[in-house]
Amino acid sequence: MKNVDRRSFLRMAGIAGGMAMLPRVSRAAAPRVVVIGGGFGGASVAKYLRLWGGNVSVTLVDPATAHMSCILSNLVVTGLLDMSRITVSYKALGTNRGVTVVQGKALAIDPAGRRVTISTPTGNKSLDYDHLVVAPGVDFVAPPGNWNPSLTPHAWQAGAQTTLLRNQLATMGNNDRFVMTIPKSPYRCPPGPYERACMVADYLKRKNRSGAMVVVLDANAGIQAEPEAFTRAFNVTHAGRILYVPNANVLSVDSASRSIRTSAMSFSNAKVLNIIPQHRAGGIAASLGVNASGFVPVDALTYGIAGYPNVHVIGDASAVPASDGKAVPKSGHMANSEAKVCADAIVRALNGEAPDRNVATSSACYSPITARSASWLSANFLYGDIYDTSGAVKGKGMHRVDLGEAPAGQVNQDNYQDMFTWADSLFFRQLCLKSACATRRRPAADGGAPAMRADIHPRARQSATVGFVISAFFLAA
Ligand SMILES: Cc1cc2nc3c(=O)[nH]c(=O)nc-3n(C[C@H](O)[C@H](O)[C@H](O)COP(=O)(O)OP(=O)(O)OC[C@H]3O[C@@H](n4cnc5c(N)ncnc54)[C@H](O)[C@@H]3O)c2cc1C
Repeated sequence: MKNVDRRSFLRMAGIAGGMAMLPRVSRAAAPRVVVIGGGFGGASVAKYLRLWGGNVSVTLVDPATAHMSCILSNLVVTGLLDMSRITVSYKALGTNRGVTVVQGKALAIDPAGRRVTISTPTGNKSLDYDHLVVAPGVDFVAPPGNWNPSLTPHAWQAGAQTTLLRNQLATMGNNDRFVMTIPKSPYRCPPGPYERACMVADYLKRKNRSGAMVVVLDANAGIQAEPEAFTRAFNVTHAGRILYVPNANVLSVDSASRSIRTSAMSFSNAKVLNIIPQHRAGGIAASLGVNASGFVPVDALTYGIAGYPNVHVIGDASAVPASDGKAVPKSGHMANSEAKVCADAIVRALNGEAPDRNVATSSACYSPITARSASWLSANFLYGDIYDTSGAVKGKGMHRVDLGEAPAGQVNQDNYQDMFTWADSLFFRQLCLKSACATRRRPAADGGAPAMRADIHPRARQSATVGFVISAFFLAA
């Protein structure tokens, strides 16, 4: 597979019409792009701006020196992986891509002055920008009561919380209860909480904790992703180990006594109380204005936001316009996909061009069900008309054209193995965060073996038409 540059990718995807000229940015003074947040969205956009932008100066700001991935983190919670396996340093992004990585936290955005104030270990600083990409992921809305995440963790941002939940799980004995909550959608990784329930149940079985159970208190009316696979997992694979309770709105939490009251069921003295609270856009993104669900509405072609010229929001913090009932999921794969669209739009803007209107995004999640088996879910979106529930056009945005998931019977070991290949492709090749990226001028994602590319998820393989568009899109990685 040969290397594919941005122009070739657009041609292959059949979306290069009228694009005979696709110059890289060529001003004498390098335009400055500042990226806030080095997760799947931020690290990806930083990489692609440098890859596609030529003379663009990119500064990435994150409080950490490495990204700890939520993807695969349930395997850390259940003792199957070590934290180091899901921790990827930002070093290669600097050495291979020429991104300036600054350890710091964005405190405030001055859109009129085009400046960001950040706190760093050596004091506050200002960074001037021509374009700003904001990708801070999510923050949590504390439930009513006395919630203390250091006693009853969420483990929905990877790091210390993951380790804490893993250590608490390890203390469970026979007949103990692991009680977890699921927030109302939208939240990051729709299948993630059900995956956690399965993996904890599997852990309790592997450790012979007789009578120990997982209680899933879901604020939603039903399972939000892969319902067939998870219903089977709850009722068959983990029969007797998982109690699933829908419509359980959290009324109060008391972390000290590990007690919870919901509209459906209450618990006192759970051995482990895993509160995954309601989500909203990460604070610095939320300061730009949010919708009723707490996320920042964006334009699906540029990820720009109304009233803030040259400011873009990508990843979990954003609310992408979509057809009713077909929301764009909050996932790492999707954040990576949006990052490419956003990087392309910024490069065009810097060249005085309009954004491309033929864009596609996609998402994939692999869900381990046991220590040896997994299912998968993928969704593909194309830019165009989006519809309300009556079928009337309500505007422009990302319309879901394809949704695939593993049939319940195909929860198997092959998927489990594919999960690591897919995740490593995201960690190391797409984000350019490790040595795989360091060995070549271009990372292997530009031309590596097909199975190593993040885009090669099951649905893309199966769907000839959409798969071609999506694969072509990612081949430009
Ligand atoms: C258990 C679990 C399993 C998952 N499995 C999958 C899966 O199978 N597939 C999938 O695609 N997705 C999965 N996800 C979802 C995925 O992890 C998120 O959707 C993804 O991390 C979103 O990327 P992001 O860049 O928007 O945010 P993040 O990856 O959270 O990155 C945000 C970054 O911004 C930084 N930041 C925050 N505020 C500031 C600030 N003020 N200044 C500077 N930096 C800041 C943070 O330190 C962080 O590094 C899973 C999530 C969980 C919890």
